Amino acid sequence: MSEERFMDKIIEVCLRRGFVSPTAEIYGGAGGFYDYGPLGTLMRQKIIDLWRQSFVLDEDDIYEITGSTLLPEAVFKASGHLDSFDDPLVQCEKCKSMFKADEVIKGVTGKSAEGLSLEELDKLIADNNINCPSCEGTLAKTRDFNLMFKTEIGSTGGINGYLRPETAQNIFINFKRLANFMRNKLPFGVAQMGSSFRNEISPRNFLIRGREFEQMEIEMFYDQDKENEHPRFHEVADIEINLVTREMQEKGWKEPLKLTTEAAVDEGVIPNQYLAYYLALETEMLKAIGIPEDDFWFRHMQDHEAPHYSAGNFDLEADLSLGHMEIVGNALRTDYDLQKHAKASKSTFELTMPDGKKVVPHVFEPSLGVGRIFYTVLEKCYREDERGWTWFQFPPTVAPLEVAVFPLMKKDGLAELAQEIHNELKDAGYLSFYDGSGKIGKRYARADEIGIPYCVTVDYDSIKEFSVTIRDRDTMKQIKLPIEDLEIAIGELMDGEADFEEFNQES
Ligand code: AMP
Repeated sequence: MSEERFMDKIIEVCLRRGFVSPTAEIYGGAGGFYDYGPLGTLMRQKIIDLWRQSFVLDEDDIYEITGSTLLPEAVFKASGHLDSFDDPLVQCEKCKSMFKADEVIKGVTGKSAEGLSLEELDKLIADNNINCPSCEGTLAKTRDFNLMFKTEIGSTGGINGYLRPETAQNIFINFKRLANFMRNKLPFGVAQMGSSFRNEISPRNFLIRGREFEQMEIEMFYDQDKENEHPRFHEVADIEINLVTREMQEKGWKEPLKLTTEAAVDEGVIPNQYLAYYLALETEMLKAIGIPEDDFWFRHMQDHEAPHYSAGNFDLEADLSLGHMEIVGNALRTDYDLQKHAKASKSTFELTMPDGKKVVPHVFEPSLGVGRIFYTVLEKCYREDERGWTWFQFPPTVAPLEVAVFPLMKKDGLAELAQEIHNELKDAGYLSFYDGSGKIGKRYARADEIGIPYCVTVDYDSIKEFSVTIRDRDTMKQIKLPIEDLEIAIGELMDGEADFEEFNQES
């Protein structure tokens, strides 16, 4: 199976079954913009809710904010985005197509050229005789292209504004108020989920590189002198994470290194507990949404690959059909942003600690891309087997619909009873779906195709002896249950408290 075709199969199901489609599709689309459809919206929300629960609501000192997506120029002048948030653009002299230079080089040499200077990129293009990927024409010299979308604010213009290229800046510019809210104590975190915009040179690969995308970010503020005193580190100390060190990258690695977070910090593989704590949380979240733990790892990025504000990145990379893709950015942003904004806005962002020490906090930032996680789930859960149709093995944590209810026939009161059961399941909080038409096998296939874990069929026994049949998506096995036990059974099956096979024996 060719790699490109694998993504195309996923896209085909996404379009046909209401997961995701290109924005303004009827007008030919607008490269790099996508709309989530009915099922995509349900699944996206589940991913966001899981993040919100484990990264925000389960914590005592982290609160979420919702900031504006359009910010005045002063913000990005101070943050360095106006000067440095560039990608290297290379244009074909013949067909005029534009490309991201490091991607063109990677496509030919197979090696990452991210973060290299324009001169270094030009040299690599020349040394490797690289031509235009579209028409083989000669490539012009590489130049910087700023990725921010610019606009003017107000009817008379004059004030330049930019769509934010990351959610983080809202948090830094509100630092004083947020620190006050947190009673000026460290550590504390501020979370935000929302859209970011980057005018990517060559948006591609569906949700992986878009021009508008959502990020779930936290800016975790701490005293650098206490970088190994994360208050809850002991809770994750034993969690094993997959790591790829810089040394491993130099030698050419095959398998990631597996270490507990505690060992990773003790051995100096990970610089501090704040970073390690979030690598553990990310590992747990990805496992919970159906990404096998051997399919992702944290790579210590080389200095030249890290963004301008970062003193070190450990990006979560997943093994996808397209190759290794960054899904989550983990950046040690130090006090870079606070110092820059303090200077430019003539504010002070120093906090006074109980012992009188003055501290400008350091920041660790886990930045999870909703679209990339969403796509990774689709790819890792996609199944083709002998059943004759494709299906998604979504865990209930992310399945857009959790249970489907079918009457075997529409007549003899079966439809009414099925509708009643469906309503009760909805009242109990399940994402239930009612499908009353078509052959039953076809309805199972339709439900499998969108990854519904359980189907409930109402037949003549349901009227006679108040029983229903539950079909398990993964095994296609069926069990009969009294209607009155259905709700509890579905709950136990979804939570993993009951195994379908065992259930079968018990019932
Ligand atoms: P970065 O600030 O570049 O490290 O990005 C943080 C995270 O945002 C990445 O790990 C991705 O999940 C997501 N992200 C960044 N750029 C894009 C994009 N163009 N399209 C989709 N997601 C993106």
